[in-house]
Amino acid sequence: MKDAVVERGALRLPFDPDQVVDNLRFERYCGSSRTDSFLSGALANKLYYLARPFLGVSVRRHLQKLRLAGWQSIPFPHWPVDRTVEQVHETMLRLCVQAHDGEEVPFIWFWPERFLSCAIVTHDVEAVEGRDFCPALMDIDESFGIKSSFQLIPEQRYALSLSFIESIRSRGFEVNVHDLNHDGRLFASEANFRDRAGRINQYGRAFGAHGFRSGALYRNLAWCGALEFSYDMSVPNAAHLDPQRGGCCTVMPYFIGKILELPVTTTQDYSLFYILNQYSIHLWKSQIAEIMEKHGLASFIVHPDYIVESRTRDTYKSLLAYLAELRSEGKIWIALPREVNEWWRARSQMKLVRQGNNWVIEGPEKDKARIAYAVLDGDRLTYEPSLKYRERPRLREDSDLGYDIKALETHRPRSNPAQMRSAPQMIS
Ligand SMILES: [Zn+2]
Repeated sequence: MKDAVVERGALRLPFDPDQVVDNLRFERYCGSSRTDSFLSGALANKLYYLARPFLGVSVRRHLQKLRLAGWQSIPFPHWPVDRTVEQVHETMLRLCVQAHDGEEVPFIWFWPERFLSCAIVTHDVEAVEGRDFCPALMDIDESFGIKSSFQLIPEQRYALSLSFIESIRSRGFEVNVHDLNHDGRLFASEANFRDRAGRINQYGRAFGAHGFRSGALYRNLAWCGALEFSYDMSVPNAAHLDPQRGGCCTVMPYFIGKILELPVTTTQDYSLFYILNQYSIHLWKSQIAEIMEKHGLASFIVHPDYIVESRTRDTYKSLLAYLAELRSEGKIWIALPREVNEWWRARSQMKLVRQGNNWVIEGPEKDKARIAYAVLDGDRLTYEPSLKYRERPRLREDSDLGYDIKALETHRPRSNPAQMRSAPQMIS
């Protein structure tokens, strides 16, 4: 960033910040590190899943710990939450505010109404025991006034009836597809994936599902286009404790082609309980705090299978109580993943336009949207999410932001990255 040139009306950079962000979101920085040891390699994965039905729980946990050995020394992404993408965007915004003598920059606030952040609670149903616990889990979630999504495995793990699916949906919860049969082989080869994707899409239509999550958060984002879902939830923010390392380094949704990615931004219940041996919500609280600092999405995976026992169930209840408390303080919007998907898509269609002396928002669901301002506090960029009414737009008619604020919510390649210039009416 030392080579960035800030001149009145324009910001010149020696690199393309969109490319930096894409390299992170699409995990292009990973290289071969995903398979840097036998225990985390593809062969080990195949052997593990072949042997899995014959291994006791304690042996499986021991093997997983071996596979994760050394996770604490992984330097990147940052543990327990990586916010590099948000830091890149903030740096760009700060430079562009500075390029305009500190004039504040209006943009469409990240979340509906005046919510400062967002949270989703999701349940991947792994086996028969988990499936049978779903009604009790819905009772628990409802007792905290929270609706969640249930990701169901269509083949091999357990029987699924349409009445079971309907029993979830009729209570206001959401149903999504979780892998095909969860054998760890979904991305083993492209031909295999495309074959399975066709069946997964069929199940998606049969379930009436809008969202998908792969088993164990395995992924190959280059193939995602074969999935006919509106959104995906398979990309971890920092995958230190997941079988496939890496992470998207963002706490915000982002588009992968036509699919919206809602990244997994907190540690899974399994890792918390059985790898870290923690039964407090201390780690989850610190992750929520880091996510809220960037106004991001806190997304949780809690498996019904792992909270049947009272000790882990109590930990989960503590999490729900904490989320409900944040919501009561107006700090967090707890929504279904489907609602977040709808909101983020609507927001990406909105525009901030000048009307007389004011800025107004145009587009779908504009009534829920609010205008916020990026301002400089000394050298630090802050947002004014107070979203207070402004009598006059602070930007001059002829001002040029030099950075497209659209990048705050969705990726749009720009034609001349070395000298970005965008008209004020593009702000949204
Ligand atoms: Zn799973």
